[in-house]
Amino acid sequence: MYDVLIVGAGAAGMSCALVLGSAKTKSFAENKRIGLIAHQRTSHLQTALFNNVLGLAPGTLGSDILIQGKEQLDTLYPHVEQIENEKVKSISKSSEGFTVTTTKKTYHTKIAVIAVGYTNLITIEGLESYIEPHPKTVAEKERIWLKNEDHKIEDGLYVAGTLAGWRSQFAIACGSGAQVATDVLTLWNDGKHSHVHDKN
Ligand SMILES: Cc1cc2nc3c(=O)[nH]c(=O)nc-3n(C[C@H](O)[C@H](O)[C@H](O)COP(=O)(O)OP(=O)(O)OC[C@H]3O[C@@H](n4cnc5c(N)ncnc54)[C@H](O)[C@@H]3O)c2cc1C
Repeated sequence: MYDVLIVGAGAAGMSCALVLGSAKTKSFAENKRIGLIAHQRTSHLQTALFNNVLGLAPGTLGSDILIQGKEQLDTLYPHVEQIENEKVKSISKSSEGFTVTTTKKTYHTKIAVIAVGYTNLITIEGLESYIEPHPKTVAEKERIWLKNEDHKIEDGLYVAGTLAGWRSQFAIACGSGAQVATDVLTLWNDGKHSHVHDKN
């Protein structure tokens, strides 16, 4: 049983995983089991080139961020389990949270974060009832969002990144994933607002 399982390892999913992983020294986050379905093949980062993101050197490739993000997670927060070579096929409610079925296995989680991007090619069974036209893109592109309020779809089910209804900018997607992470930390902290900062 995972405490939180993040689906999708693009900008939003990896940012969410990094912030959750970084909370390991907080007593309320100790012993929490965090998983990331680390699928990256269809990430928009695969073809992106960044000149307009604060903190990224101009010319940074999204494909490099995909690799470095996983390495950063693995090096700093190895307790975040990265589940490789699996794609999520379905998600359904269970008595304790959610059952997530991939191309290879079935996982159980108390909280699920969906961060699979806003393409209408989404094929995850169980999410159909939340899918609506994306509110902040041009209609011709037929992008979608999962209807949510402040990233929450329903109790225990969150959406992050472009699929949460945000416009497609790297910083926005990362911020959305980080926001969901702090919402989860706040839940774990009995509703007391939480964030994670390092100091030099
Ligand atoms: C060509 C291009 C250029 C860009 N240039 C810029 C730029 O200059 N500046 C800027 O700010 N932004 C730019 N962007 C936008 C930026 O890349 C996106 O806004 C950002 O990647 C969106 O993040 P996301 O996490 O919502 O989705 P993504 O990064 O697309 O991540 C979604 C993840 O979900 C995974 N996934 C999908 N389906 C499943 C499934 N069933 N199971 C498990 N995992 C799944 C995918 O493999 C992927 O890793 C560009 C995008 C493109 C395509």
